Amino acid sequence: METITRKSLIYKSGLGFYCLNHVQGCSHGCRYPCYAFSMAKHYGRAADYQEWCRPKLVGNALELLDKELPKLKAKAAKSPNDEELRIHLSLTTDPFMVGWPDVQNMSLRIIEKINSFGMECDILTKGILPHELAGKFFSGKNHFGISIVSVDEDFRKQWEPQAAPFVDRISALRFLHDKNNYTYAHIEPYPTPNIVEQDIEFLLKAVAFVDYLYFGGWNYSPLTGKYPDRAGFYTAQATKVQAFCLKHGISCDTN
Ligand code: SF4
Repeated sequence: METITRKSLIYKSGLGFYCLNHVQGCSHGCRYPCYAFSMAKHYGRAADYQEWCRPKLVGNALELLDKELPKLKAKAAKSPNDEELRIHLSLTTDPFMVGWPDVQNMSLRIIEKINSFGMECDILTKGILPHELAGKFFSGKNHFGISIVSVDEDFRKQWEPQAAPFVDRISALRFLHDKNNYTYAHIEPYPTPNIVEQDIEFLLKAVAFVDYLYFGGWNYSPLTGKYPDRAGFYTAQATKVQAFCLKHGISCDTN
């Protein structure tokens, strides 16, 4: 696959945690629209949707980590903080994008390297988390998450056309949960009923094994604003999420 070279990799995001993006673009091609694509287009990193969906691997990612991880570790040692020792993959791409084995292999090598420096990773995907992540090359302290807002495959094909089918996402996450790993589900951007009619209980039941759930609404699109009482709808869904999590002993945040 095509590669690019970067000058640096790890950065502290505006959300307050460390993260890295070792790929430019994302083949999943979500149409909410994808905020990362909007930003890439704005800053000239992707001319259009087709270019965004042809990912380019950061070819020197591992070399950059060899330089950056010792510095980050030294910095974290001076101000011990769990967040500072966990690096998120990824904010502007997907580390396990479907159909791109080079991306998946690089993601595994990156996680292995971060773990070898005594740091942990937080991995979020709409792809399939590989079983290897439960293996001996990894710390066993990583956090694994899937982004999922429906269990309706027709919805997935329309809005996340190249991402993994929901059932495969969930079963890969379940495997890692069953191997005693920390798992979570990121339910955002949750669609209003004028986008898809669904009962959130089905989705919650499908991921009821996770340690943590995040629920958030659908922004960056005028579609949800057309739904009568958008605010009331999201308040009601958040209340259901909180009740479900309380009942099942799951930590949660709702937005
Ligand atoms: S998986 Fe994430 S980064 Fe990739 S297109 Fe979808 S929203 Fe954007």
